[in-house]
Amino acid sequence: MSLNRLFRFISIALLMLFLAFAVALVWTEWNTYHHGANSVPALRRLRLALLAMEKISAERAPANAAIASGVPLPAELQGRLAAARSESDAALAQLHAALEASPQLRQSWAMDKVRLVEEGLGPARANLDRVAALAPEDRRDVLVASAVSRMVDLMPPMLRVMTELGNEVDRADPLLRDGLSAVRGVATLREYAGQLGSRFVAPMIAHRQLTQDEVIEIGRLYGRIELLRVFVNTQLSSYSSRPDIAAAQERVGKEYFDSGFQFLDFLLQMGLKSGDYGAMPNDLFKFYVPQLAPLTDLRDLLLSDLQRQAERHNTRARNLLILVVSLTLLACLFFQLLVVLIGRRVVRPLVEATDLVAGLVEGRLEQEIPEARHQDEIGAMMRALHVLKQRMVERNSLAREREALITQLQASSNTDFLTGVLNRRAFYAHAEQQLGMAERYGRGLSVVLFDIDHFKRINDSHGHQAGDAILIGVAQCVAQLLRKVDVLARYGGEEFVILLPESDLAQAGAVADKLCAALAERVFETECDRQIRVTASFGVATHVAGEALDKLTRRADVALYRAKRLGRNRVVLAGDALEEP
Ligand code: GH3
Ligand code: MG
Ligand code: MG
Repeated sequence: MSLNRLFRFISIALLMLFLAFAVALVWTEWNTYHHGANSVPALRRLRLALLAMEKISAERAPANAAIASGVPLPAELQGRLAAARSESDAALAQLHAALEASPQLRQSWAMDKVRLVEEGLGPARANLDRVAALAPEDRRDVLVASAVSRMVDLMPPMLRVMTELGNEVDRADPLLRDGLSAVRGVATLREYAGQLGSRFVAPMIAHRQLTQDEVIEIGRLYGRIELLRVFVNTQLSSYSSRPDIAAAQERVGKEYFDSGFQFLDFLLQMGLKSGDYGAMPNDLFKFYVPQLAPLTDLRDLLLSDLQRQAERHNTRARNLLILVVSLTLLACLFFQLLVVLIGRRVVRPLVEATDLVAGLVEGRLEQEIPEARHQDEIGAMMRALHVLKQRMVERNSLAREREALITQLQASSNTDFLTGVLNRRAFYAHAEQQLGMAERYGRGLSVVLFDIDHFKRINDSHGHQAGDAILIGVAQCVAQLLRKVDVLARYGGEEFVILLPESDLAQAGAVADKLCAALAERVFETECDRQIRVTASFGVATHVAGEALDKLTRRADVALYRAKRLGRNRVVLAGDALEEP
């Protein structure tokens, strides 16, 4: 896999992982915030439920007083009863409206229980009013007991409403659990304390001892209240640093558990012994009910504290959510920047550098090497590549120069410096090769040797330079008349040799004749515009099988010698045998 693709693959994989992590984190924080946002309204609904519970419970005090009172009811008691009833109605209506307003609770179990209480309240009151309207002597024990207990029976559903709405708070903000348990505990305690008082109403009205069942029920309530007291105290241990709550707790201990319990203990003793309570229900509630006030105070204090805690948690959750989202966005941005930066400053230059190095290896020296943009390792590599390319260019040009020099040297070592035709050494090398071919394939090969006549005189009369010019002119003139396969070489001084492949003696003789005539006709002009004519003498020999090159040229030389002897400016053909002059 190429570096570029690998990098892209890793970047995308990392980004995906990071995004998954970020989404999970934001989702968790969002859920905490979203659920937490419900804690304040849930607490408000719980408060309404507790208030309704308290009001219905409190309504029992004037109600019980009414069934203990004479007929007609005193106006003051009637007023208190009416006020207590309208207060519990208003509290229930508020709770109902709050549940109705919440889409989740509109159809809930809590709502069913609230409706149950609303429906049960009317008949319970009507029943109570009926008993209260009877003459005191007609109020039989069972009627009174049922009137009291029908009101008390409304409480279990209310306690269930409290539990369900408390659970709702707990779901919204589990951190409120301790305080919430304490509130539920205190409210339940308040309710059981009220019920405990109510249990004495029927025996007090009838001036009788407590029945077996009543004693059991009172004992059960005592037990529950004790348990709740321990439970609430445990839950409140985390509030030890709060003086207001500690003070309220102390008041509960003093006013309810000391004075209130003393009063109840007295009633219980009387109920067990004589049935002479010495106090009518009205007095009971005048003395006993106020002892319950510290419980509601403690409950309200705890509720307010929970409200503050919930608001604090919400603010913290919101701030945390904002922080997490901002940090996630920042991290995303930073990650993107990092990927782009590494891509631009590391991966791309590396890939480019690899291509450049591969190009240099393949000899593509014309490719541009980009300038180093940064003072880093990649920049250093680019600068090194520049130097490498420079060196390669220099080395290549040196190699080219050397090759040219070698070619030049080779050429000059094979060429006669004056006339530009091959020299004697090159001629021999070439002629040996041709001789081998001619031997092998049985082809003809001839040698023509010619020497300029009386050349010494030319030098003497026109100067050495003119002589050189004649030598050049003769070589050019002869070269023009030869075939491409023929080879002309300077044999030495003013003597030239021609190698004629594929030519027998007659053909070579004809060539020599043509050259002899051409030279004789040719007029050479010197620098000082003087016209010079030259002739040359030719000796021609053709190769015979098995003959060495030396011998062949020697025969041509002998023929040339004869041509000179015969008067020059002529061609003499050599015989097959060497005739020494
Ligand atoms: P012959 O007809 O018998 O060949 O008479 P010749 O004068 O040509 O022969 P000779 O061997 O006596 O003279 C050759 C002369 O050629 C002598 C020498 O000075 C001259 N010569 C040889 N090489 C060169 C050269 O490269 N340049 C010039 N200008 N003269 C040369
Ligand atoms: Mg000569
Ligand atoms: Mg000569």
